[in-house]
Amino acid sequence: MKRNKVLDNAVLRELKRKVIDVAREMFNCGLVTSTFGVVSARIPKTDHILITPSGFCKAKLDSTNLIVVDLNGELVEGSLKPSVETTMHTYIHERRPELQAVLHTHSPFATAFAAANREIPCVSAEQAFYFGGRVPLVTNYSLPGTTDEEELNSIVGALKDSNAILLRKHGSVVVGETLEKALDTAIVLEDVAKIALFSMLIASPSEFTRNELDYMKEFKKTRYGQKRA
Ligand SMILES: [Zn+2]
Repeated sequence: MKRNKVLDNAVLRELKRKVIDVAREMFNCGLVTSTFGVVSARIPKTDHILITPSGFCKAKLDSTNLIVVDLNGELVEGSLKPSVETTMHTYIHERRPELQAVLHTHSPFATAFAAANREIPCVSAEQAFYFGGRVPLVTNYSLPGTTDEEELNSIVGALKDSNAILLRKHGSVVVGETLEKALDTAIVLEDVAKIALFSMLIASPSEFTRNELDYMKEFKKTRYGQKRA
């Protein structure tokens, strides 16, 4: 098919390589197990999305397993069935064209908060620095594979304030301007959830105040990293 040939170029090959790398890293970091989790990425300058197949272990994927869909979730290229969360992914990609990546994980510490119907309280400097406050929970959410527009709108709404969100009783959605940034966010999300959960087992930790969060924001902007005075 001519359309498929147009997509079969160096850009797509490179993006496929990155999607596979991120999927494997998600597995290796323990953010997903078995066949769970999804990686999707917008193909630059197109309305096409590269997405992982349904029911495939992320550690065993290769580029021939990936699927290209359009923003309606219609198949463009590939022989496998795309993720059951394709509607959620295309819904986010359609409304956030500046993002390259959408990841979905069941990373256990973050998912423990989702299962308990709780946001992740901001009790660590790491979370204050990285997320600037609580990690929100989408409560207007029913079950995996949802195609309900109100629920999908709630997910997109929550992602306006945070690059990582929790889906009630399910897992997380993480977005990023690049696949690498989204993976980093998914890793840090699990880290801050672990810290928060353990601190809550030890005591009743206090959350960062507005003033402390403002300080952390300024600290990140002006002092952290390799900035020159
Ligand atoms: Zn899931």
